[in-house]
Amino acid sequence: MSTYNTTVASLECDDETLRGHLQGADIPTLLMTVAHLTGELDVLKPDWKPVVAMGVAGSGMSAEVEAEVREFCLHRLSAFRDSRLPVPARPTSDQLHAIGTWLMGPDIEPYLPLIAEELVTAEEDPRAPRWHKEHVAAGRDFKVVIIGAGESGMIAALRFKQAGVPFVVYEKGADVGGTWRENTYPGCRIDINSFFYSFSFARSTWDDCFAPGPQVFSYMQAVAREKGLYEHIQFNTEVTDAHWDEDSQRWQLLCRDNAGQTRVDSNVVVFAVGQLNRPMIPAIPGKETFQGTAFHSAQWDHNVDWSGKRVAVIGTGASAAQFIPQLAKTAADLKVFARTTNWLLPTPDLHEKISDSCKWLLANLPNYSLWYRAAMVMPQSVGFLEDVVVDVNYPPTEVAVSARNDQLRRDISAWMEPQFADRPDLRDVLIPDSPVGGKRIIRDNGTWISTLKRDNVSMIRQPIDAITPNGICCVDGTEHEFDLIVYGTGFHASKFLMPINITGRDGLALHEVWKDDDARAYMGMTVPGFPNMFCMYGPNTGLVVYSTIIQFSEFTATYIVDAVRLLLEGGHQSMEIKPQVFESYNQRVDQANGLRAWGFSRVNSWYKNSKGRVTQNFPFNAVEFWRRTHEVEVTDYRLS
Ligand code: NAP
Repeated sequence: MSTYNTTVASLECDDETLRGHLQGADIPTLLMTVAHLTGELDVLKPDWKPVVAMGVAGSGMSAEVEAEVREFCLHRLSAFRDSRLPVPARPTSDQLHAIGTWLMGPDIEPYLPLIAEELVTAEEDPRAPRWHKEHVAAGRDFKVVIIGAGESGMIAALRFKQAGVPFVVYEKGADVGGTWRENTYPGCRIDINSFFYSFSFARSTWDDCFAPGPQVFSYMQAVAREKGLYEHIQFNTEVTDAHWDEDSQRWQLLCRDNAGQTRVDSNVVVFAVGQLNRPMIPAIPGKETFQGTAFHSAQWDHNVDWSGKRVAVIGTGASAAQFIPQLAKTAADLKVFARTTNWLLPTPDLHEKISDSCKWLLANLPNYSLWYRAAMVMPQSVGFLEDVVVDVNYPPTEVAVSARNDQLRRDISAWMEPQFADRPDLRDVLIPDSPVGGKRIIRDNGTWISTLKRDNVSMIRQPIDAITPNGICCVDGTEHEFDLIVYGTGFHASKFLMPINITGRDGLALHEVWKDDDARAYMGMTVPGFPNMFCMYGPNTGLVVYSTIIQFSEFTATYIVDAVRLLLEGGHQSMEIKPQVFESYNQRVDQANGLRAWGFSRVNSWYKNSKGRVTQNFPFNAVEFWRRTHEVEVTDYRLS
C-alpha cells in the first residue's frame, strides 16, 4: 500500500471520459474543486449550497439538479483544461473563506486557520517543525524517549526526526499501529471517514469509506515504512518504570524485553501509550468457573468457531456493535446482555466501498483529493459540540440537555423508529433514556437494528448476578446456558499510564497524585512535579463529537516538539508546568464538562472515573485545542 495521493499536475482526458467519471463525483467536492481550479468563485451559487447534517455535507439536491451541476462543472473543467493554465496550489485565504463559508456558513470562520493546515497537497507538510536541532543547539547531548508506537507515538517520532532531535521509541508489541494491531475482532473498522482518519502528512487512497481494521493497520505500517520510523523503534520492549533524576536532570527508565531489563535515560519522555488498550473484564462472581470459552473483544481468539454455538455478549459499546452482527450470522443463539444502550449516528455509507469513479477523480482531477478531504474536515472539525452543550435555562433533563439536543434526539429517533416498527418490544432497548452525547454515539447503517431483530438474537436487560459453570445467571434467577462468552466490556480507560511506575521530583508518585483513576494534566500533556514529561492522548483530550484522534495527536505533537525547541534554544535543562496554570486550566475543564451531555447525564460511560468525574473528554472546540497547542506559552512553565 502506498500512502500517497500524487498531486495531479493537469487534467488530461477527453470530455466523454470526464463526463463518465463525474457521475460518481461528490457534488459539494466537485463545485469546490471547480471554484479553486478556475478561480471562479461564482460557481458556488447560493442555490447549490450543500446541506450539512450530522457532520456530513451533502448536496441536498434532486437527481435532476445534480445532473445539471455535473454538466455545468464539465464545461468549466474542459475550458480550464483547454486553457492550459497551471493548476493552482493551495487556496488563498480569500478563496478558503469563500469556499468554507459557502459549505458551512459563518460558523466555520474561526476554524479556517486550522482547516488551512489540513488542506495541503501531497508534497506539503505545514506541521513539520520549522527548526532543526543543528541550528538551535548543535552538539548538545540531548535525547527523547517515546513510549508507544501507535498513531500518536508515530506522529511524535516523525516530528522529532524532522527536527533532527535524537530519539528512541519503545513499543511493547511487535509492530506499530497500537489499537489497530491489537483489535482484530470480526467487523472491526474505523468510525471516522477514512480520508479524515489519515495523517495530514500521509494521504492514502482508501478502498472503503470507513476502512476495516486490517486496512488501517496496513496504512500505519506503510506510513512507518515510508517515513523511516521503523529503524527508531525497539519492539517487544516494555517500559516499566520512569524516574526523574534531579541530579542529572534526566529521566531514568527501566525497559524490559526478552533479554531482561535495561536502564536507559533521556532528557524528555513522551508517553504515547494509548488508553483504550487495557481490557476490562468486570469482576462478576463466578467468572472463573465458566466451563465454556470466554475472551475479551480486544483479545479475540480466532481459533474459536462460534457457528452453531450458544453465544453470550456482555456489553453494547462501539466494539460490541461491530462484532455482534458478525457473530449473529452463524451463532445458533446469541444473547446480548445490555445494561444501558447507546445512541446511533445514521451513516448510510458505513460499509460502502470507494467507487471506481471516485478513485479516478482522486487520481486524475487536479485538487479533487484536496477538496474531497475538505468536505469532511470542515463539517467534522465543527461536529456536534453545540448539540451537547447543556442549556441551564432549557431546563436540561436525562432525556435532553437543550432544545438542540432534543432536536438531535428526535432526528435520530425518526431514523431508528421505522427500522423497528415491526418489533415494538425493542423500543426500550433501542432508544436510550440518556441524552444524545451522554455516552459514545455509535455509527450505524441499519445493521444494528436488523441484527437485533434476527430470530437467533435476543437482548437481556436483566442485570447479571453471576457467571456459572454453564452460563450466566441474572438477578431474576434465570440461568442462560452458553458455549461462548465474549466480553465487550471496554477498557480501563481512566487508569492513564498504568501500569508504569512513574516518579517525578522528590519521589512524587504519579499514580498517587492521580489517585489511581483521577488523572489530570495541562492540555492532557503536562503535570506539575513531572518535568520534561509529556502525554499524548492524555487526560481530557478525548473528543467524541468532532475531529479525530489523529488530528488531535498531530496538534499535541506540535506542542511537544515546540517544548523541546524551547529547552534546546534556551539551553534549559527542564521545564515544568506551573501549578496555578495547571489548576486553573483543570477547573475550567471540569466546569465545562459538567455542562456537556456526558458530564450532566448520570448514565454509565467510560468517559467518567469511579467517582463520576469526566477524565476523558475535552469539553471545548477543536480550534481551542489547536490554538493552545500551536506553540508553547513560555510563561506557563518554570524553566531551569
Ligand atoms: P465501552 O464503550 O466501554 O463499552 C463497554 C460495554 O460493556 C458497555 O455496554 C457497558 O455497559 C458494558 N459493561 C461493562 N461492565 C459491565 C458489567 N459489569 N455488566 C454488564 N455490562 C457491562 O467499550 P468498547 O465498546 O470496547 O468501546 C470503547 C471505546 O473504544 C469506544 O467508545 C470508542 O471510543 C473506541 N472504539 C472505537 C471503535 C471505532 O472507532 N471503530 C470501535 C470500537 C471501540 P454500560 O454502558 O452500561 O456501562
